[in-house]
Amino acid sequence: MINLSEVKGIGPKTTSLLNKLNIFTIDDLVEHYPFRYDVLRRSDLSTVTEDERVVIDGKVESIPLVVRFRGGLNKLNFRLATSNGVVGVSIFNRAFLKPNLGIGTNVIAIGKYDKQKNVLSASDIKFGTLSKEDKIEPVYHTTNGLTQKNLSGYINNALLKYGNEITDYIPKKYMDLYKFSNKKTALNIVHNPPSFDKLKEASIRLKYEELFEFMFKINYLKLENEKNNLGIKREGDINRLDDLIKNLPFELTDDQKTALKEVIDDLNSPKRMNRLLQGDVGSGKTIVAILAMYYNSICGYQSALMAPTEILAVQHFNNIKELLKDTDVRVELLTGSVNKKVKKDIYSELKNGDIDIIIGTHALIQEEVEYSNLGLVVTDEQHRFGVNQRANLKNKGIRPDVLYMSATPIPRTYALTIYGDMDVSIIKQMPKGRIPVKTYIKKESEIKDVLELMYEELRNNHQIYVIAPLIEESENTDLTTVNNLKDKMNLAFGRKYNIDIVHGKMKAEAKELIMNEFKQNKVNILISTTVIEVGVDVPNATMIVIFDANRFGLSTLHQLRGRVGRNSIESKCILISNSDTKRLEIMRDTHDGFIISEEDFKLRGSGDLFGTKQSGDMSFKIANLRSDYKILVQAKKDSMEYLKDQGSNNDILKQKLINSIHTS
Ligand code: ADP
Ligand code: MG
Repeated sequence: MINLSEVKGIGPKTTSLLNKLNIFTIDDLVEHYPFRYDVLRRSDLSTVTEDERVVIDGKVESIPLVVRFRGGLNKLNFRLATSNGVVGVSIFNRAFLKPNLGIGTNVIAIGKYDKQKNVLSASDIKFGTLSKEDKIEPVYHTTNGLTQKNLSGYINNALLKYGNEITDYIPKKYMDLYKFSNKKTALNIVHNPPSFDKLKEASIRLKYEELFEFMFKINYLKLENEKNNLGIKREGDINRLDDLIKNLPFELTDDQKTALKEVIDDLNSPKRMNRLLQGDVGSGKTIVAILAMYYNSICGYQSALMAPTEILAVQHFNNIKELLKDTDVRVELLTGSVNKKVKKDIYSELKNGDIDIIIGTHALIQEEVEYSNLGLVVTDEQHRFGVNQRANLKNKGIRPDVLYMSATPIPRTYALTIYGDMDVSIIKQMPKGRIPVKTYIKKESEIKDVLELMYEELRNNHQIYVIAPLIEESENTDLTTVNNLKDKMNLAFGRKYNIDIVHGKMKAEAKELIMNEFKQNKVNILISTTVIEVGVDVPNATMIVIFDANRFGLSTLHQLRGRVGRNSIESKCILISNSDTKRLEIMRDTHDGFIISEEDFKLRGSGDLFGTKQSGDMSFKIANLRSDYKILVQAKKDSMEYLKDQGSNNDILKQKLINSIHTS
């Protein structure tokens, strides 16, 4: 693998900036795709409006004048002779360009135009002239200290030098079949598009490749599953399951009943279960899993439930213990922070079969846990587990039935394709009596209104989540922090209410303690970072207040909002943000996780369908599962054909693809 620092212009400092963008290798760098393209087209100054993005070009007519301000700011002013007359151009902090802007230099300026003053306040200036054809400019996601120009320069340097060594995942057969250009050419076009037609062609090729690689892995798992899909055939006493269902504090929804039936049928069949249970936040997936685990123990087998965070594992544990308290099923918790001695006991009791249901984090598959007769594995919030973890689970040599739960809203057809190695059950209905969460968007200056709304909830003995993006104050941000908020809230409510904090850096025991107090309504306001994002369930919490809401993806906000509205009282979600309110309005206007993730996707460009943090196996760099669905289907077909083709078994590419499933 070639080091990033081999690329011309990239030193240690730039390397760490690139790392921030998730760029660690040359492949990452050249596959850092533009998230949109701007078109440079000459504007007609006589018709432009105040807010419009204006592009003009011409020759520098006056020697640029630099004005310097306190604090190192500067402003560069010059006159530009365009084909429509002379226009003043001013731009901040480009004093360094002065030597390059001699009289007669061809310049393109982009910015906002003030008709009255005949001045363009430029946000960017470039050298050159606009041609008749539109000039297509890539725009990249970047980070402080790294300009668009830097980034584009590094990418092009890397392509120039290493373009031929970049891994290409398309087998020759399909390259020929679709008359695809080679990867280097396609990458070159995507980063420097000569025309929209060429751009489209190149991006289809790159999308196909990305989806081919993805579908190859899925298909590989599918074939592996089919090869040895003999599982456990069960014949348990279904009446005992029905008795438990009758005694639940609520009636199951029809969707829950159907999903449960599908799962039980799988458990009873000799074929191994490999099923995805999908349902929007709050749709009640957990109970289905619990009932399946109970049935599994009736049949004499052990179950393991894996959650992505300790908070969730603990919640599931308490939940299950409560539901199964009148049965003889033994449930235990195993997470990273369980003390050594207890852990040892649990290990041996798992091995000798004393424990029926074990709840934990990924530790359950990563550590050398031995079971007496593991029959069922459930993983919660599956989108956090990638294809590779999925493979890992199966490589442990045990052959249990597997149930994956996911809140990622995707329709059945897509689900069937991208989870091609699994069967899918979908819970669409929300439990009866749920009222949609009322969502408000507030500016920071309206904090008094927010506090009043909060006070109202508190007086009704309801609880509140408050979310802030950061734990501690750091020097160069003005983002709200949890510590800061706690002081403010204490002040605002005169210490009448109990306010506490959880965040990701706290020890698990401490987190658990506070979560428990919140559950028992001993804590009235829980201030948190997004650690509570997935799965946490406290029905008495009826309000969530999210500071700096613009910092979060819509899918994350949807997950966060899903923490409330878990009973029959109207809950409120307050999004606080001074900017980006258009995007946030989507949250106010819809509660459908599917639409929200779609919008999120559109707005944030290509990349991560499910919010930045929920990386899992569904984050694509250039493909879009929905708009590129046709390519996906083709890639699925082709990759399956390639997999099954014995003749290509010794292909280096095939080996590479298979190895990547087992190693990363
Ligand atoms: P998710 O699908 O997001 O994981 P949970 O399984 O945490 O949702 O369920 C959300 C809440 O709804 C829980 O408090 C659960 O007890 C409750 N619940 C689940 N099913 C029903 C139902 N059929 N009727 C009423 N409440 C239900
Ligand atoms: Mg859940």
